[in-house]
Amino acid sequence: MAAGDTQPDLPDRIIVPRSDRHQVVVIGSGFGGLFGTKQLRHADVDVTMIAKTTHHLFQPLLYQVATGILSEGEIAPPTREVLANQKNAQVLLGEVTGIDLANRQVTSHVLGRELVTPYDSLIVAAGAGQSYFGNDHFAEFAPGMKSIDDALELRGRIFGAFEMAELGAARGENVDHLLTFVVVGAGPTGVEMAGQIAELAHRTLTRDFRAISTRHARVILVDAAPQVLPPFGHKLGKWTQEKLEKLGVEVMLGALVSQVDERGLTVKYKDGSEERINAVTKVWAAGVQANKLGKTLSEQTGAPLDRAGRISVNPDLTLPGYPEVFVVGDMISLDNLPGVAQVAIQGAKYAAKEIEGRLEGKPAQPPFKYFDKGSMAIISRFRAVAMVGKLRVTGILAWLMWLVVHLFYITGFKNRVTAVMHWFVSFIGKGRSERTSTEQQIFARVALQRLERGATDLVSEPGEYDEAQRRAELEEQAAEEARLSDENKRGVKV
Ligand SMILES: Cc1cc2nc3c(=O)[nH]c(=O)nc-3n(C[C@H](O)[C@H](O)[C@H](O)COP(=O)(O)OP(=O)(O)OC[C@H]3O[C@@H](n4cnc5c(N)ncnc54)[C@H](O)[C@@H]3O)c2cc1C
Repeated sequence: MAAGDTQPDLPDRIIVPRSDRHQVVVIGSGFGGLFGTKQLRHADVDVTMIAKTTHHLFQPLLYQVATGILSEGEIAPPTREVLANQKNAQVLLGEVTGIDLANRQVTSHVLGRELVTPYDSLIVAAGAGQSYFGNDHFAEFAPGMKSIDDALELRGRIFGAFEMAELGAARGENVDHLLTFVVVGAGPTGVEMAGQIAELAHRTLTRDFRAISTRHARVILVDAAPQVLPPFGHKLGKWTQEKLEKLGVEVMLGALVSQVDERGLTVKYKDGSEERINAVTKVWAAGVQANKLGKTLSEQTGAPLDRAGRISVNPDLTLPGYPEVFVVGDMISLDNLPGVAQVAIQGAKYAAKEIEGRLEGKPAQPPFKYFDKGSMAIISRFRAVAMVGKLRVTGILAWLMWLVVHLFYITGFKNRVTAVMHWFVSFIGKGRSERTSTEQQIFARVALQRLERGATDLVSEPGEYDEAQRRAELEEQAAEEARLSDENKRGVKV
């Protein structure tokens, strides 16, 4: 294109070109998507990974971003960088809105453009979102913990609550509602979050404020279930509850959240009695709902969805009648497999091996079998619980195991090194190096909801923008800036 030519407008619907090689499309850049793509690095295929974010997210450490221990970059490396050396893989940014199984194509959208990507084999690894059990309006007041946006918004709300309390207390106001933090859901994420907020208030921030004592902050962990950490069994659940209470966390069990608003929430007990908790900061860590792409797949194949929206798959992770389509990770319902990273990783690797094996004429693999490497949850520094096979570990040993495992799975050497440094600062010392938050981070969710088409509304329509006029404006502005400097006219009273 000659200098000065204008860029032609892209059509609104683009068919992504394909080569003669076998085309594998992978939906999602999470654990399933990334590990499936990597597994295909030596295969004679072209892989297109379509994801709605430009990063691979290590969800298990989101709570550390929310509480100022890690930066978002440390748990969310850019997928393009991770796959830079994998020549047969390309990354396509976009939100998948449709999967046409009959015509073997995936439709995705990015900033008002529609892309259609054909495939020969498909791996769907779009994960799960937060479930508010039919009360989606709670989300505005109690963000979940599923994305970088969620973690940064929560970081802003948590540290912001201390700031507002300081301002209020300095004017003699009652700030109890600002110094009360409620975490809903006593699974691993809720336990980790409650433990970290308690450490933050009762240990890290104690010397930072003048008008308030952060030691008096209340941290409440609420769950409708009768115990903490049900998947870890009674013994570890009880141990965890005792340690949380020692940290100063109030544990309210058998308490179902019935209402949430900006100033607090209401819980309902089994006997029908209700209790109101005044708390500006609420965190929702209570439920998951599989990605809605499962519904599309279910409608086209007849494969049933369970209550959490997870789709039933064949024992080889394919969909009935579509052996070229694999679904893995949090989206599937198979043999009561848990929604954990290893199920997604192992499932995606299995699917990738099957695709490669078929091209090489190898016999089909035996049905997918999940190898349980164990589960762990951290309560506070030096305290965790772990379950490996029949082994139950608590305390510092479990914490060290947690440290090693998480370090191993964080993507990228640089991220591992900086994560260790940040852990050292936070766990051995008292610091939290990632406390930066802005008003925009806290309120952007509300602002985006007001835009009819989300971020697309912030982008000029194709053709709307007159490049020649804008260029002339910029040239005129630059000439004026240069003239003022050359003629020493800056600072001269006009
Ligand atoms: C806070 C938290 C803590 C956790 N802690 C642990 C833990 O300690 N141990 C453990 O084993 N597991 C843990 N998990 C669960 C674990 O993270 C998930 O089981 C795992 O991420 C599932 O992998 P996946 O590939 O199925 O989905 P994900 O990793 O969620 O990836 C889904 C991908 O799909 C993309 N996507 C979604 N919709 C679309 C669309 N329409 N178009 C394009 N792309 C799309 C997303 O952007 C993302 O890249 C935790 C989860 C959370 C939220």
